[in-house]
Amino acid sequence: MKKYLSILLSVLILVGVMAPCAAAADTSECDCGFNPVIYVGPLGCSDIVRDAGTENEQKLWQIDTNYLLSCIGDQLGTLAKAAVTMNADTLADALVAFVDDCFGDLALNGDGQSLPNVTTPYLNVPSTDEHHADCDYYFDYDFRLDPFAHADRLQEFIDQVEELTGHSKVQLKCSSMGGVVLSAYLEKYGYDEIETIITQCCPLKGTAVAGELFCGKFELNATALRRYAQDALPYMEGGDFVQALLYSLTDTLRVAGVWDMLIGLGDIIVAQVLDRIYAEALIPIFGSFAGIWAFVPEEYYEEALVFMGMDENYGDLYNQVEAYRVAMANIEENLQSARNDGVKTYILCGYNVQRTPLVTAWKNTSDGTVDTMYASVGATCAPYGEELDAEYIASLSDTAFLSPDKMIDASTCALPENTWFLRDWLHCNGSDAIGALYRIMLTTDEQLTVFDMPEYPQFLQNDDATPSITPVTGAPNAFENFKNKPTFLNFALMISAFIDMIAAKMKEIFSCIGG
Ligand SMILES: [Zn+2]
Repeated sequence: MKKYLSILLSVLILVGVMAPCAAAADTSECDCGFNPVIYVGPLGCSDIVRDAGTENEQKLWQIDTNYLLSCIGDQLGTLAKAAVTMNADTLADALVAFVDDCFGDLALNGDGQSLPNVTTPYLNVPSTDEHHADCDYYFDYDFRLDPFAHADRLQEFIDQVEELTGHSKVQLKCSSMGGVVLSAYLEKYGYDEIETIITQCCPLKGTAVAGELFCGKFELNATALRRYAQDALPYMEGGDFVQALLYSLTDTLRVAGVWDMLIGLGDIIVAQVLDRIYAEALIPIFGSFAGIWAFVPEEYYEEALVFMGMDENYGDLYNQVEAYRVAMANIEENLQSARNDGVKTYILCGYNVQRTPLVTAWKNTSDGTVDTMYASVGATCAPYGEELDAEYIASLSDTAFLSPDKMIDASTCALPENTWFLRDWLHCNGSDAIGALYRIMLTTDEQLTVFDMPEYPQFLQNDDATPSITPVTGAPNAFENFKNKPTFLNFALMISAFIDMIAAKMKEIFSCIGG
């Protein structure tokens, strides 16, 4: 009897142990009708740390103030000397050493590999089967590395999510640099497992800032830079490369009192100092990131290769940089094929925001970080704050895709009917109003166009304060613009509008007198 009992118990224990395994292995289909959403994060979506797991562990990206101060502390002696002598070279020595101290260990080697002790140990792994419109899976990655390596990881991630949830397709929502990962993914893996693609402010055709900086087209206006740092940067969220860099630099300079000194030195010397930081610290570090090379638009690429000295002498890094060019060149076609084969495809981008002022392309209309023409994959855009040429508008055979404020013509986009433009939308700034539009795109089974939803036409005015997105009806008023966004450029545009108004009034008065 005892023997039978023990066998029975053993069987029960075995069954008990096996039951959860059986349940876990059960990949039965889910009939909820909503394919899980994977959010492909922006640059800086994962922590990059040095010496993970040791007492010296230090975050090297979006670094904390203490680390910043400790790096600048090492240079205090040199800085003090520079302040006393007002010597630009001494100042440059200190700043180059500082940038190298802060960011130097992020640099990749010629094969595009990180230092072994600089890693991303906290990357997300899908672990729950919960999936609905308010719950997505967050895909993060080390932005420095080869976008095709991220594409491989994304495919694994998709497989894991599908297994967990019992769905055979996923929906991809890509934010900013997430579009680079998407481009590599579509090029390598296609879209068989994708139900929906949403791109939010993605540099699908690059961003002019990266192109110009990698070509050394560096136009410095110290005052504009300071105003930009004060006005625009604090409102920007997420981790953009240039923005985070400017943040770190300007904030450190402010903390250390260097900024006032720089302004005191005058523009020419400032330019000399920044030229040295650029050549001796920024290029060797950021020029080694295949991920940042993916931001260089096609028209800058050849020049950037020469300027940055990127050629076959590099090992795998050069191959990685070259391989991504194919993904970027094919993005129009890849998105069009996906959409034509039934993948719901939505491109969203911002416009009418002042972009980074330190490059010659500072007048490109943008979301502050990514130029609208690149995020929209081909829109024809007027310079920031201006309308398209009357001649150009007159030449359009169809004005269905022309913005009511005459700033954008979307007919030249890869997917004119599936591309939305949000005026005054700062790079990737989320709001409930924008979230509501995403919800429709994710939950509606068929592809929607810019003509399908009267409340969401192609051109929308974003208002973070309300928050709301409402149809754009006409040109923005320069006075309102300045009130809403008190930037230097808006101030200049307002003064110019004011002078125009006075001139028109004077003309009116004189013509009355004359008549
Ligand atoms: Zn489901």
